[in-house]
Amino acid sequence: MLTDNLPRELRITEIFHSLQGEARSVGVPTVFVRLTGCPLRCVYCDTTYSFSGGEKFSFDALLQQIRAYRTPVVCVTGGEPLAQPNCIPFLKQLCDEGFRVSLETGGAMDIRDVDTRVSRVVDLKTPDSGEMHRNLYENMALLTRHDQVKFVICSRKDYEWARFKLDEYQLADRAGDVLFSPSHGQLAPRELAEWILDDRLPVRFQLQLHKYLWNNEPGH
Ligand code: SF4
Repeated sequence: MLTDNLPRELRITEIFHSLQGEARSVGVPTVFVRLTGCPLRCVYCDTTYSFSGGEKFSFDALLQQIRAYRTPVVCVTGGEPLAQPNCIPFLKQLCDEGFRVSLETGGAMDIRDVDTRVSRVVDLKTPDSGEMHRNLYENMALLTRHDQVKFVICSRKDYEWARFKLDEYQLADRAGDVLFSPSHGQLAPRELAEWILDDRLPVRFQLQLHKYLWNNEPGH
């Protein structure tokens, strides 16, 4: 997508410093940049406050705030960050500035233009998310070992579906990590853990750390 003519700015819901709550770098101090807006409406969404509002920031103002945290790791999240075309050049600029960058994306947007230095954490939406029909499966062929795929699992039906997709797209070979996460308050974590062990699945079970430490309050 051409972004050269766009003003170098993004609409932002929040910027904060916290511990990475999930994925490969769980527990690592990280600066989070939450972009405003998302075209999806997953039933379990815990960031509905990012759907609208927000404030426009120039890239320079954003970088100034990020640098002030004196933390080398940045996670760009949402909402759906890729819904704003300027996310692509912003990710590149973060990499150029030497930050270690990850991107959390809902799996409905094309990831091909994302800088390859970025670790892309791509959701595949399960049947019980209510947004399965939005999955862009072309993204699966673009994944590398630097990337991660995430399934938020609400039920046994979701688990079986995720297991099928794992096999269908050979995700354990393609991506660096395949993450299975129980939907908070919908599926008992222990149940999911036991299914994974019983089936000898080559995936990484994860709990969302921030929900246990900070009860998912905004700003963490
Ligand atoms: S993609 Fe993420 S931000 Fe968008 S509705 Fe789903 S869970 Fe919420």
